[in-house]
Amino acid sequence: MIVDEFIENPKMLSEFADQKIHWSNFLTLLHLLLIKHGERKFHLASTNKRNSKNLRDLADKLELKWKAVTGTSLFEYQKQATPLPQTVIDALSNEVNGTSTEGLLIAKDENALDSLEGSVFSDSNVGKILDYPNCCIDWYVNNRSSDREESYAYVMEYYSEGANTPVENIIQMMDECDATIPESRNRVEKIFNHIAESRETMPFIFFQPCDVCIVSYSFVPARKLNEKYANFAKENYPQLYEIIISEGKKDGEYYR
Ligand SMILES: [Zn+2]
Repeated sequence: MIVDEFIENPKMLSEFADQKIHWSNFLTLLHLLLIKHGERKFHLASTNKRNSKNLRDLADKLELKWKAVTGTSLFEYQKQATPLPQTVIDALSNEVNGTSTEGLLIAKDENALDSLEGSVFSDSNVGKILDYPNCCIDWYVNNRSSDREESYAYVMEYYSEGANTPVENIIQMMDECDATIPESRNRVEKIFNHIAESRETMPFIFFQPCDVCIVSYSFVPARKLNEKYANFAKENYPQLYEIIISEGKKDGEYYR
């Protein structure tokens, strides 16, 4: 009943959704159903978005538990093609590490919610909490690290007055660069291709599949996970299964 109603009249649950493409809203519902059936442990979302209320209401309807949990941030960086200088790494770490961050956590019972209170909400830890495969988590962290390196190189080349520029100013300029700087364009295009392709071939997962998971057809973690969730949907909620596939195709076109 809840599922039929939602398909008829979907609510905004996810930052990835817009009013026309509800793929991520339908997939969020499926992931909550997976939690209800014990196939997943957690859903974690931002607490300050207007979607948050919709998400809490839906969790209540599904008789799941939710809580705004507080954790700490951690700067994660893996050296890539042109490693950042240690001074920049240290300054970024100082800025980020230990700062408090909040997330809306949904789980089946209160104990599961409490178990994550005070956790480190780094990219890779959040990935682990959400059952993402390690290969795809690493791929994401490496890409984020390349983002930093490319914006650093860009700032040094075009804006900075060389070695005399204070590290705080460099970091501020790096933050103001977005991912469309020319040095990043090819890599970002490749990420978008991964996303577009995964919406076609793996529409039951949220994360970006890594290089290995995107090209191989079987026995890779992302595809196995997609298949597990797809089978669950097909058996228990066939209409939701169909609409995630069709909406996933629409969402994928966004990235082409
Ligand atoms: Zn992978």
